[in-house]
Amino acid sequence: MLPLVKTSLPEKDVLMPALEEVLYSGYIAQGQVVEDFERKFEKYIGSGYTLSLNSGTAALHIALILAGVKEGDEVISTALTAEPTNVVIKMVGAKVRWADIDMNTGTLCPKSVENLITEKTKAILFVDYAGIPANISEFQRISKQYNIPVIEDAAHALGAKFKGKCLGSFFPYTVYSFQAIKHLTTIDGGALQIQDKDLYDKAKKIRWFGLDKGVSRLENDIKFQGYKYHMNNVNACVGILQLDRIEGVVNTYIENGKYLDEQLKGIEGIEILKYYPDSEPSYWLYTLRVKKNRQKLIDKMTANGIMASELHKRNDLHTFLNDYPTSLPNLDIFYSEMLHLPCGWWVTKEDCDKMVSLIKEGW
Ligand SMILES: *Cc1c(COP(=O)(O)O)cnc(C)c1O
Repeated sequence: MLPLVKTSLPEKDVLMPALEEVLYSGYIAQGQVVEDFERKFEKYIGSGYTLSLNSGTAALHIALILAGVKEGDEVISTALTAEPTNVVIKMVGAKVRWADIDMNTGTLCPKSVENLITEKTKAILFVDYAGIPANISEFQRISKQYNIPVIEDAAHALGAKFKGKCLGSFFPYTVYSFQAIKHLTTIDGGALQIQDKDLYDKAKKIRWFGLDKGVSRLENDIKFQGYKYHMNNVNACVGILQLDRIEGVVNTYIENGKYLDEQLKGIEGIEILKYYPDSEPSYWLYTLRVKKNRQKLIDKMTANGIMASELHKRNDLHTFLNDYPTSLPNLDIFYSEMLHLPCGWWVTKEDCDKMVSLIKEGW
């Protein structure tokens, strides 16, 4: 079965000697290797400071803390995402306000967000769902106009670009995940890309109990709540080797995605997505809309060895996350029509052609 997601690791003869060296170096906690990974990731993104962490969830949590979101506040978010995006809002005691999505992309609709802004709104959290950059220029406008910080959850979108630049350049906080099935995995891990140096320094303390790593334990004075969220040298070692090969990995997703966009155009019963101007998706999942009998198409693909399906449960169906049950007509339609196809590094051009001809045959 051609899977929808798959873990990509460096070759054994590259990974194992490097890992062995770190494992028996006597320093497996957060040290120089983590530092090296952060500086290398910064270079890859090309803007801001990288705070490496033990998960993308930790990155989202710290972003909300830095944005000043507190108990009783509201964060406007999307229901079309993985659970971490919205669980973290509850971790800081805030409430989730659901905005609707844009039918063209499945990402959060700026107009819908704008209509929900009140004095309780302390942050807007959007997701580049399935690797498609959301409407970045509109969210920049809204952030400026209403003076509300925007957090970008780019966990699906490493390698995606807007105006030729990597995501991580456009908002004060951008979240990446290095979990097992993301474009780049460090086994588990994450990063928060931060634009402001002072906030970056504060975030380093939040990541480590509120302690300043540059000062001896006895001279330290904890002044606010911190956590144990840092990355260690072992995961960072994997991350460094992954960065050496990330360009090639990401490019296979993008080439397959573009090829499917091209080949699936104009087929009866299918609608391909319409990306925003100047945006370049990194197609973590290939996403399309099926206008009739979606289940029949899923069954047909499965019978032919291709895993085609949805991946996430819409988050407003989780009781704990559904603070304000909201009518989301676009999401209702999109969620009932959306289908993901595999398009990552393990998918060949022959696989793409097979998927296209199966769809062209009809279902
Ligand atoms: C994977 C993911 C995260 C972060 O997950 P971690 O497993 O904590 O790294 C956040 N948001 C989305 C949309 C994700 O898919």
